[in-house]
Amino acid sequence: MAQVELKGVSKSFGKAEVICNVELEIEKGEFVVFVGPSGCGKSTLLRLIAGLETLTSGDITIADKKVTDLPPSKRGIAMVFQSYALYPHMTVFHNMAFSLDLQGVPKKEIKERVEAAAKILQMDNLLDRRPSALSGGQRQRVAIGRAIVRNPDVFLFDEPLSNLDAALRHDTRVEIARLHSQLGATTIYVTHDQVEAMTLADKIVVLRDGEVMQVGAPMDLFNMPANEFVAGFLGSPAMNFFAGELTSKNESAAQGKFNGSGLTTDNVRLVSASKGVGDAVKLGIRPQHLELDEKGPLHGTVSLVERLGTDTIVELLAADKMLFRFATSEACNLVIGQVANFSFDAEKVHIF
Ligand code: ADP
Ligand code: MG
Repeated sequence: MAQVELKGVSKSFGKAEVICNVELEIEKGEFVVFVGPSGCGKSTLLRLIAGLETLTSGDITIADKKVTDLPPSKRGIAMVFQSYALYPHMTVFHNMAFSLDLQGVPKKEIKERVEAAAKILQMDNLLDRRPSALSGGQRQRVAIGRAIVRNPDVFLFDEPLSNLDAALRHDTRVEIARLHSQLGATTIYVTHDQVEAMTLADKIVVLRDGEVMQVGAPMDLFNMPANEFVAGFLGSPAMNFFAGELTSKNESAAQGKFNGSGLTTDNVRLVSASKGVGDAVKLGIRPQHLELDEKGPLHGTVSLVERLGTDTIVELLAADKMLFRFATSEACNLVIGQVANFSFDAEKVHIF
């Protein structure tokens, strides 16, 4: 049985339904990321699992035990928040020991558990410090240590990196990935950042307005998005969309005409099966999947060139003034004002 199971989970605040009928299974040891734009319900869903909010309807099971009506302390979870909220007057050791002290765990065992967690986090030499004498990254590690000492069935993280600067965010992200491979603990991690989701997750849950849009392995979602929202949300720079009309379709493929950009396509995956011939559709092409090609069907006038070192991102305007992007890791001599032509592999694009 799954380690965490959500059945028909809904949550309303007053009349506003912010979580709508979520069904989800999380396996033991899995690293699951809830991702979506701000306000889509990620924190609420995590807080429902933690027991910090009560469900409007549905059920939650953790480690084969129905926890829907249990308080947070009885659910076998430990949560790490965005604001690490350490006790400023306590040392690192006592910050990490605090919850075990409250539970009445014997002093000797507390010492062992705190020291073991400190070792995992490479903080054994910081145990006597106060939080004010730590960097932001070290403070966040103490907060993670507080969760580790409790030896929970499930770790819950709510945007734990958002208060850190870019370099530290990267280091701490790597550390969380390492920690997970070391402990193998079931982890649910909330972020609005699709890069964190893509790099950390075994399984991504994309949320929009309280509804699950798609669940799957990062590259499955990237390559086979279930809808335009998921396609546009994952991947950087974002997928290009060209508006047009469906001209024919069969079971597995479709053809479309995308007038503004002068494109017609053959045998493209039709994502929205309900679309029929003559319906308005969009062609989705990732910037990385465009190839410079003198004879290519897509034309654009270069409006911006961003050289990032390894990659170059070029912004172009199509015939209908529609903006699209081209991304390449190869040398790129395009200049502003120049017209460039592109082709693409029909197998890598989608019609929504
Ligand atoms: P996210 O974490 O994805 O940014 P939240 O789960 O915090 O989103 O919020 C989802 C929606 O629920 C938002 O519209 C938010 O305003 C609303 N919400 C969250 N908590 C409460 C609350 N305690 N009372 C009323 N509305 C809330
Ligand atoms: Mg949130």
